[in-house]
Amino acid sequence: MTAPVAIGDTDVLIVVDVQNDFCPGGALAVPRGDEVVPIVNRLAAEFRNVVLTQDWHPRGHLSFASSHPGKKPYDTVTMPYGSQVLWPDHCVQSTPGAAFHPNLQIPHAGLVLRKGINRAIDSYSTFYENDRTTPTGLVGYLRERGLTRMFLAGLALDFCVRYSAEDARRENLNVWVVDDACRGIDVDGSMAASWASFAALGIARVAAQNLART
Ligand SMILES: [Zn+2]
Repeated sequence: MTAPVAIGDTDVLIVVDVQNDFCPGGALAVPRGDEVVPIVNRLAAEFRNVVLTQDWHPRGHLSFASSHPGKKPYDTVTMPYGSQVLWPDHCVQSTPGAAFHPNLQIPHAGLVLRKGINRAIDSYSTFYENDRTTPTGLVGYLRERGLTRMFLAGLALDFCVRYSAEDARRENLNVWVVDDACRGIDVDGSMAASWASFAALGIARVAAQNLART
């Protein structure tokens, strides 16, 4: 996608989980995750409407391998809502790892949406927890604010960005992924699966440099 896209007042940028634990040196580092920070900062300046999401787990969260004796990170377990990948402890509420990257500068963001706060359910998507039925409230926020087209950037492309994009399509939202403003983890081919899913669902991709305020 190379054609420029004009950003207007009913567009929203969702900046997914640009937190210390997902950047190099963090507990669940996305390779080169910190590279998105300057890109996202520049991009956000083009949007009047910006939402930041923040992974925000209680201690002992059931997505942590440490909560399951004998399991290690990247094993999977069966939760009541289905299969769940186990992660290193990360983004524990009010710890430095859960804080936004210190160079993330988006003072005009109108909403910080925290997810993963229910100990028993993980939450990749910014719209629904991993049981696929418990809403975060973001759909209501977007609808009430009249924000009809969303652009996704952040971490990790193949988990939280992917699930958010797919849920947005389920909600009949117009969703774009700003591909160079994301980085992925790539567990068992999850990056390729994400791009294939976006193509199959009609989720558009755009480069950050092609987005500009009208
Ligand atoms: Zn998490």
